Amino acid sequence: MLGVYIHIPFCESKCAYCAFSSFVKAEDEHKKYIDKVIDEIARYQGEKKIDTIYIGGGTPSVLSMELIDKLIGAIKKHFILAENYEFTIEANPNSLTEEKLVCYKNNGVNRISLGVQSLNDVQLAFIGRKHSASQALEAISLAKKHINNISCDLLIGLKDMDVQQFCGQIDMLAGLGVNHISAYMLQIENGTPLEAMTRANPLLLPDDDQCVEVYDEMVKVLASLGYERYEVSNFAKYGYESRHNFKYWTGDDYIGFGLSAHSYINGRRFANAANFDDYYAGKLANEEILTKNQKLEEHIMLGLRCKAGISKQFLRIKGYNIDENESYAEFLQKGILLDNGDNIKLNPKYYGVSNYIIVKLLP
Ligand code: SF4
Repeated sequence: MLGVYIHIPFCESKCAYCAFSSFVKAEDEHKKYIDKVIDEIARYQGEKKIDTIYIGGGTPSVLSMELIDKLIGAIKKHFILAENYEFTIEANPNSLTEEKLVCYKNNGVNRISLGVQSLNDVQLAFIGRKHSASQALEAISLAKKHINNISCDLLIGLKDMDVQQFCGQIDMLAGLGVNHISAYMLQIENGTPLEAMTRANPLLLPDDDQCVEVYDEMVKVLASLGYERYEVSNFAKYGYESRHNFKYWTGDDYIGFGLSAHSYINGRRFANAANFDDYYAGKLANEEILTKNQKLEEHIMLGLRCKAGISKQFLRIKGYNIDENESYAEFLQKGILLDNGDNIKLNPKYYGVSNYIIVKLLP
């Protein structure tokens, strides 16, 4: 079934590592923007039945409750929401309040994704986050009071990170009943303050080996606490995998509204303009119809990054006999790939080198 994504491109300030489509704007701009998103939703003519909604950003929790009511009201008016739906909103610890949580819950939100990133105040200040570790812990407890399904994002590769410090954070999140953890490697993006800092001091951040060591240990700690790795960077307690994100990884259809929002429908991929003037003028940034080969490549790339795996039948229909690929036989023999007849999965031990394996398996 279709999933809906809404992009909220506003933040209270810009983090030092951020290259996302997010801007610091006054409330008047928030209002103008939400009106445009609602207009975009009203014009949408495709499939109306949906089972996931994801409001991401940016920082959706900077929006006033009035704007949230208006936006969600428009989504519900235009789409038919399945009974057993997942509805996520992203929030930052410093802008999430009890009133907002009640507002989200009353609007049907049943999952909160919190941008924690670290539970170390020095690291948080270093990357320019507005919240402290204690604010993050308070926000989790508060969110848990109203909405059971809580996900937290963490960053691997921050200054002064070590295995003990990183895994201590996991213990704290698990202790608070967090159901889902996303742990991403810190990326140094061109043009960000972090890039300038690392250029001035190349030894500022942990190296790749240290990051891999932390990642491997984190996987063990998470497994011991009952979190299953269902995608390279995503871990969940049983039944708490992100259904919306799973659509991206398994090639399901989704429609995105808002600045730079991406959509994928019936093999057509397109993205809204990434600057406000073009977005308000209704322009797209890009649009393409995927070729048979592109669909094949995406199926392999996305499938091997998550527990869904890849379907041999799908590959055959698209004209690719993977049995003829030499690396495939070698990976099977070494236990890197697991083949149960029709479904090929990457042995979770090798998620960390999935990119290398994927490249070898492409037609
Ligand atoms: S809160 Fe997220 S989107 Fe906003 S500036 Fe920080 S990293 Fe970027």
